Amino acid sequence: MSTTYENDIPKLYGSCVFNDREMRAKLPKDVYKALKKTIENGTHLELDVANSVAVAMKEWAVENGATHYTHWFQPMTGVTAEKHDSFIQPDGDGEVIMEFSGKELVKGEPDASSFPSGGLRATFEARGYTAWDPTSPAFIKDHTLYIPTAFCSYDGQALDKKTPLLRSMEVLSEKAVKMLRLLGNNDVTGVSTTIGPEQEYFLIDSELYNMRKDLVFCGRTLFGAPAPKGQEMEDHYFGSIKPRIAAFMHDLDLELWKFGIPAKTKHNEVAPAQHEMAPIFETANVAVDHNQLTMDTMKKIAARHGLMCLLHEKPFEGINGSGKHNNWSMSTNTGENLLNPGKTPAQNIQFLVFLMAVIKAVDDYADMMRISAASAGNDHRLGGNEAPPAIVSIFLGDELTAVLESIENDTYFGKHDKVELDIGAHVLPHFTKDNTDRNRTSPFAFTGNKFEFRMLGSSSSVSNPNIVLNTAVAEALDQFYSELEGTPAEDMEHAVHELIKRAIKKHKKVIFNGNGYTEEWIKEAEKRGLYNLPSLPDCMPKFIEDKNVEIFTKYNIFTKEEIFSRYEIFLENYVKTILIESRTMADMITRDLLPAISEFSGDTALNAANKKAFLPNIKTTAEEALVKKLNDSYIYLTENVANLKDSVKEIECMEDMQAAAEACRDTLLTGMDAIAACANEAEALIPDELLPYPTYEKLLFSV
Ligand code: ADP
Ligand code: MG
Repeated sequence: MSTTYENDIPKLYGSCVFNDREMRAKLPKDVYKALKKTIENGTHLELDVANSVAVAMKEWAVENGATHYTHWFQPMTGVTAEKHDSFIQPDGDGEVIMEFSGKELVKGEPDASSFPSGGLRATFEARGYTAWDPTSPAFIKDHTLYIPTAFCSYDGQALDKKTPLLRSMEVLSEKAVKMLRLLGNNDVTGVSTTIGPEQEYFLIDSELYNMRKDLVFCGRTLFGAPAPKGQEMEDHYFGSIKPRIAAFMHDLDLELWKFGIPAKTKHNEVAPAQHEMAPIFETANVAVDHNQLTMDTMKKIAARHGLMCLLHEKPFEGINGSGKHNNWSMSTNTGENLLNPGKTPAQNIQFLVFLMAVIKAVDDYADMMRISAASAGNDHRLGGNEAPPAIVSIFLGDELTAVLESIENDTYFGKHDKVELDIGAHVLPHFTKDNTDRNRTSPFAFTGNKFEFRMLGSSSSVSNPNIVLNTAVAEALDQFYSELEGTPAEDMEHAVHELIKRAIKKHKKVIFNGNGYTEEWIKEAEKRGLYNLPSLPDCMPKFIEDKNVEIFTKYNIFTKEEIFSRYEIFLENYVKTILIESRTMADMITRDLLPAISEFSGDTALNAANKKAFLPNIKTTAEEALVKKLNDSYIYLTENVANLKDSVKEIECMEDMQAAAEACRDTLLTGMDAIAACANEAEALIPDELLPYPTYEKLLFSV
């Protein structure tokens, strides 16, 4: 459709989106106004307005080549779902017209009985429904009009990742506005959370990808001898981009821009074949939708270039895996970033309150923050000296830490040059922002005017972490509000000072500006009483602890049933993933590696025998040692694969999902590690041409 605009990016940008420009052009004025009101204030949309919007949307979509529409939603599978319906409507005379009604726009009923619901929806009561989210714009992809929707059960239980996110954004907005009012800010009527998710990914040749069952079935390699060169030269990070990759990146940008996704930065990452794309931040739910669409588009564009885009958190052992940095802040409808330190003391009071609310939120719900990033894939990264450890702490930088310390200790803050001090006149210190201090090892870092949550895995939706963050910050603001409520305006500075003093005393344990990758920190964190939850099975019991159930039900983010259904789904997903990995490993070792070992040791033995027959005195000790080593590996692998298969069978029969998840971690993952170690050694001895699958060397260095 819009390839014609390739040399006119402003025209190309958003050309596949039913955006504000299109709405204004296509909708009657009063309809446009009503829709805007719904988008901005969340007011109910009348059916006649919806009808009018549907007609305009369809006209625009058909003009732009769409034949179908779909309610696009985000079930608990981790990927998006869609079912396409065409616009055609027989007119009775053997011809068709293109039709789309308000009802079809607003609500859909996919027969969605097969999506995970964690017991929320009995299969006989399979009807879930999708409801239009007008705050995320509809777009056209592959001749289909995509309508972003929430997915719920008939009695209103959320079955997706969008519904609770929207709920959490609303709660945060309400609490933030209330707090701003209390602090004397009367202009703001809404606060939205903003997210900029930086996306890491790998690109490998798709022919090679198709030759490895582990990549095809698990998204990651399960074993593989390391290539002679890994990432130790640090020559890939920000390195010059190879032509084939550059062509991919260019096409990706164009495609994302068409969807109105503000792709901004692209570069090579640390590991060979690893790259990153960062967009400009957007409102949370739009950013979440756009990140899903980005991941999808990356795969599609990669295929066009004969490449496969790997979004798994740990596709290769021995080199970095991929994550996603969730840059997060709060922004008022008057355009103010609430985490911007600001220039006046009044702005600073506001900033300190919101900053402190985030610190409190992250400290109080550190377990939930960690859980929000938990998955079988991401467990391989957290704590592996490539990503933050599984302990949630906050990096504030020296300056802000000193500011908070000065408040805690009633000392004035003036040591640092960059600080403008306002002694006497104001109780709170006056400072300017400094974001030069960066600590890449912190899971939750303040970076000047936003926080960057760095625990996320590359493949997951960014929804969960933001649901937790929004809700926890809303709760902190609410508590602060009750502490400050009723304070006369002239005493507010002092009251805020006292509030922060109390709060920082209580929550400073979560602040850590040092190197998060060290052993000392793990010990220190334990002393401080911070959570260290290395694996998903460690996380899940916390997920259903009273304090966590309480906060999410209190704000109607989740019902109790929704929490327990999600708990089941998380565990099940983990167990299923590791079972698939184990079966795939057993298959690859048995049918790919063992025959290669056997063939090569046979060849070697035969060659040695031939040599001896030819020259009876010749030494064949090297061949003998090699055959012996290969044979030892053959035996070890055979036995261990048999054990692995037995354990798989046992776990498949387990009904207690928590116990099954622990067994997956303790038996299957450790079993697979031992097999991988032996397989890697054996593989390194065998010529490439005897291996039916490509090695790390080929996978990582051939593009
Ligand atoms: P870097 O981290 O590489 O220095 P930036 O700080 O410019 O780069 O931005 C990193 C990401 O953070 C980008 O996606 C950017 O859009 C996002 N970001 C910047 N400001 C905010 C904000 N107020 N809220 C959410 N995300 C933001
Ligand atoms: Mg960053």
